[in-house]
Amino acid sequence: MDEEEEYDEWYCGPSKKELKEQADARRAKMLAEQSPPPRSQRKSHKKTPRRILIPVIDRERCVICGDRFDGPGHNPEPLKQKGRCCNTCNLAVINARWKML
Ligand SMILES: [Zn+2]
Repeated sequence: MDEEEEYDEWYCGPSKKELKEQADARRAKMLAEQSPPPRSQRKSHKKTPRRILIPVIDRERCVICGDRFDGPGHNPEPLKQKGRCCNTCNLAVINARWKML
C-alpha cells in the first residue's frame, strides 16, 4: 500500500507528493473561482432563450397520405384546400398543378 515513488537521487524537481499538493491547491482555487457569484452579479446574467423544440406528437400530418413529416411541409393545393403535405405528396401536387395549366 506504499505509494511512494521510486527514489531518484538525481531528481531535484518537486516530488510526486508535492506535485499532487500543487494540483490540489490549483483545483481548490479553480473551484473557489467557479463558485456562484453574489446575487447582485448573478442578476446581470442573461438567460439564453431555450430553443423551442417541436414535440414529435405535434408534427404536422400530411393531408394527402396522412404520414407525419418534418419541416414546414408544402401547400397541397389543388389536391387539398387545407393543411400541409409531405415532400412525397408534393410531387403529386406539382403534377396536378401542371395538369391545370
Ligand atoms: Zn404525404
